[in-house]
Amino acid sequence: MIDLQTVRRDTPGCSDRVFLDSAGSSLPPAPVLDTTIGHLRREAEVGGYVAANERLDDLAAVKTSLGRLFGVPDDSIALTDGASRAWTSFFYAVPLGPGDRILLSQAEYAANAIAALQRARTTGAVVETIPSDSSGRIDVEALERMLDERVRLVSVVHAPTNGGLVNPVRAVADAAHSVGALVLLDACQSVGQLPVNVPELDVDALSGTGRKWLRGPRGTGFLHVRPRLIAEFEPAALDLHSAEWTSPGSYELAPDARRFEMWEADIAARLGLGAAVDYLLALGVDAVAAAVAARAEQMRNGLSDIAGVTVTDLGEQRSGIVSFTVEGWEPAAVRDALARQSVTVTVSGRSSTLLDMSSRNLDSVVRASPHYFVSPADIDAFLASVRDLTRP
Ligand SMILES: *Cc1c(COP(=O)(O)O)cnc(C)c1O
Repeated sequence: MIDLQTVRRDTPGCSDRVFLDSAGSSLPPAPVLDTTIGHLRREAEVGGYVAANERLDDLAAVKTSLGRLFGVPDDSIALTDGASRAWTSFFYAVPLGPGDRILLSQAEYAANAIAALQRARTTGAVVETIPSDSSGRIDVEALERMLDERVRLVSVVHAPTNGGLVNPVRAVADAAHSVGALVLLDACQSVGQLPVNVPELDVDALSGTGRKWLRGPRGTGFLHVRPRLIAEFEPAALDLHSAEWTSPGSYELAPDARRFEMWEADIAARLGLGAAVDYLLALGVDAVAAAVAARAEQMRNGLSDIAGVTVTDLGEQRSGIVSFTVEGWEPAAVRDALARQSVTVTVSGRSSTLLDMSSRNLDSVVRASPHYFVSPADIDAFLASVRDLTRP
């Protein structure tokens, strides 16, 4: 069980607003803030290099903590500046040729789809979409029918950005592996709110971000690659950290996931990311997942009771992302009206999940994503504000 009072005391931002945007950029807890700001101050005293050298053990521990979170070795993790950077640095390293097939999920995030379309254009590979079943999840039987040995990579979005669906990752991975395809998991919206155990999910690579459900600083992200596969991939962009210049005409790639990193980094933010992961591990991933699920269900139930409000979430298992529309209101106007009541929600627009939104004829939806630090009373206040909008 999460002690609400303690986590709220650790979250300065939640005292004077109802904060419902952990799917966008969450409120960091005090240890993340103190770690990050403390390091910036130290950089100002002694310079960035000396300050980083003082924290080498703590920097290594960031990967150890992420490894514990995912159940994987530290050296299978690369630290990046965001989820899209992580996703693309793996994706652009996958060898592709004419006729190779890339399968995307219906809920694919725009950044992934754009990268896939670009690589299709430059390599002659083709991009196809896996249909969803009637609940909105990836249709695993339809996927099985699509698979052949030309499928190089299957991209699975664990939890989409625009609503509460959770995809059946393990079933997709088992199917994809039966034809030797790689499985790349976009765990951007699941890490920090749901258990993400890589050995159980059996994916070949995973990308995620720091600022969303993990409550870390902006500009942080991470990539995990299955250890025995790392040696097969040469990232499209290298530097003197991902590789070593060993003779005038040659270089050697880093043997581990470092080959997906670049040397320069926001060290303060990285240390803050480590503090965020440690904060989550101390609370316990299962306790966090239970609290988020309870908040999201309270919200969905309350919204469903308001005439004129439609909850637009799909799936059977739901994440902490609650999406809805209000009759007679543009989603952006709902967001702005709620902001005037100190309630923070966002809008998810068609182009960030184009396939799913187009297929459901949705232009945009309001997105409310409550983390465990949001109190049941906060959610009641949110529901009252939405109810007010529907009154003439
Ligand atoms: C936010 C998001 C991303 C991109 O994360 P960045 O850190 O902004 O690069 C990728 N996939 C999904 C599903 C997202 O919601």
